[in-house]
Amino acid sequence: TQFSDLGLAAPLQKALAAENYERPTPIQAQAIPHVLEGRDLLGVAQTGTGKTAAFALPILHRLAADARPTPRKGCRCLVLSPTRELASQIADSFRAYGRFLRLTSTVVFGGVSIGKQVREMANGVDILVATPGRLLDLVNQRALSLSTVEILVLDEADQMLDMGFIHDIRKLAALIPAKRQTLFFSATMPKEIAELADRFLTNPAKVAV
Ligand code: AMP
Repeated sequence: TQFSDLGLAAPLQKALAAENYERPTPIQAQAIPHVLEGRDLLGVAQTGTGKTAAFALPILHRLAADARPTPRKGCRCLVLSPTRELASQIADSFRAYGRFLRLTSTVVFGGVSIGKQVREMANGVDILVATPGRLLDLVNQRALSLSTVEILVLDEADQMLDMGFIHDIRKLAALIPAKRQTLFFSATMPKEIAELADRFLTNPAKVAV
């Protein structure tokens, strides 16, 4: 499979060329068509497989194809990630792949002052990458509403569970419209994670690498 076979918008293909990505990795080749179709996805993949681009590229494509104003105090796509390092890397990837599109993205995580994040959210953002605890704080402070989320990504679900984020994730998911696209990634799929995935996903396409 070549990137040109996947039907990604020209600005994304241009960004991939700028990144010197020659061809999709297996998770990208498998996942991108399903996400472009709007399906929910269950992905079993480790970091290093190219899974970030496997969700970021088709998300950017869909958001750009369905142009809507950036929701004030809101976002169109929410990516939940267990650690600030991973969250920052994901946000960097969205920025790199989306550099030729007019979509905004930002990252919020705990351990830093919340005031700047509150101010930043006032105008809203198209793509928000967040760690669950800080996101819940922002929602509780009414700095952010999740009522406009169209696409939800849970990345490294097994690690989020291990880190005790399950209650935060459940609370957050309850605030997001049920009519949404949900992408769920985990490196491992023990029973607990499979049950969690089952609650979040509707008729998901399943990919494993
Ligand atoms: P990830 O698994 O998302 O953390 O990605 C691992 C690394 O692979 C990152 O440094 C990406 O920039 C790189 N990468 C992702 N997709 C491709 C690709 N199709 N070709 C070359 N490098 C890639």
